[in-house]
Amino acid sequence: MSQDSYFEKVRAQFPALTQKVHGKDWVYLDSAATTLKPESVSQRIYNFNKYEVSNVHRGAHTIADKATVNYENARQAVAEFINAKSQDEIVFVRGTTEAINLAAHSYARNVLKEGDEVLLTEMEHHGNIVPWQLAAEEKKAKVLAAKVLDNGELDMADFRAKLSPKTKIVAVTACSNVLGTVNDISTIVKEAHKVGAKVLVDAAQIVSQEAVDVQAWDCDFLAFSGHKLFAPFGIGVLYGKKELLDQMPPYQGGGSMITNVSFEKTTFNDVPFRFEAGTPNVGGAIALHAAIDFVKSIGFDKIKAHKKALLQAATEGISKIPNVRIIGTAANKGPILSFVVEGAHHSDIGQILDQQGIAVRAGHHCTQPLMKRFGITGTVRASFSVYNNMQDVESFVKAVKKAQELFQ
Ligand code: PMP
Repeated sequence: MSQDSYFEKVRAQFPALTQKVHGKDWVYLDSAATTLKPESVSQRIYNFNKYEVSNVHRGAHTIADKATVNYENARQAVAEFINAKSQDEIVFVRGTTEAINLAAHSYARNVLKEGDEVLLTEMEHHGNIVPWQLAAEEKKAKVLAAKVLDNGELDMADFRAKLSPKTKIVAVTACSNVLGTVNDISTIVKEAHKVGAKVLVDAAQIVSQEAVDVQAWDCDFLAFSGHKLFAPFGIGVLYGKKELLDQMPPYQGGGSMITNVSFEKTTFNDVPFRFEAGTPNVGGAIALHAAIDFVKSIGFDKIKAHKKALLQAATEGISKIPNVRIIGTAANKGPILSFVVEGAHHSDIGQILDQQGIAVRAGHHCTQPLMKRFGITGTVRASFSVYNNMQDVESFVKAVKKAQELFQ
């Protein structure tokens, strides 16, 4: 089967793509914001809600036991998916943002001292900036950001120059949600470890693009959201090395995260349960397991090749349109294409594309420091996933050309 007909079968698993928007076939190019959900994931959450709903860990009945087994199997599936040493290193949270807040709250607030530094990069999402600022401010530590080069690559010389024994934490995205730049995480981790810093990887964009191996990277923490990996909203993961999670105090208090509660003294559960206070998103975790199975059924070799071909075709098409400037031309890029049209506001371009049934994102993409770095207020961003095809790319390029002409 050719690559194209294989991916037409994949596309058929996404019923959302059969709808019309403004009377046109819907072209969904906003997967960096959230992915559409395949039938298998929708069915899994439907069946859970219909037949399997029960709370986990405390039930004294068969269906509750089943829910607990399925919830813990989902944890195991995540551990295997990112090659964690054990499922105890997997904490279920709401998403990337909560995962980073957990690490900043429980890890950073405990280790940071006055004068210490947290090193980020200029391409971070606000979700990987603000939690560190909150912790650093409280501890009188400093937040620094390594520079981004004009082509959107990380300035590794600046990164190295800003690393020092004062650096206690490095938090960096594996793939920029604006530039598409894929960072060299192995090198970043090696350099950071040399000065004794721990590294958190924001994997929000990378998890749907390539196999993540936390042991190969040797990162200390990693965060991602299920909803960018074909799973529902409200489920995400914080991975942490067991020896670090073990040292960390609770993030939130409540049921499930304790071993014993009394008014005199409360003792806390082991990890990962210590960080999962209250009833977790059981259905979300189980659906995330189904989403991982969906990704595995295709395999990252095929996924990468397909997205690369789409990105390449879209980049070529957009590059030929006058007065369009691509923001982010790194050698190693994920399937994300950001651009500005000279003389036109990004929101206007977004609206014009929407009228053509084409869904993109327009704005600062929660990366205001990066916008400042490029001297712009926002971009139009198209992002591609397994369900897109060359027809989508053609429609998109045609629509951008038409929009650009309106502003000349
Ligand atoms: N980091 C990156 C690189 C992202 O793209 C996003 C989502 N746009 C986030 C963090 C935050 O993810 P969430 O909103 O799912 O918590």
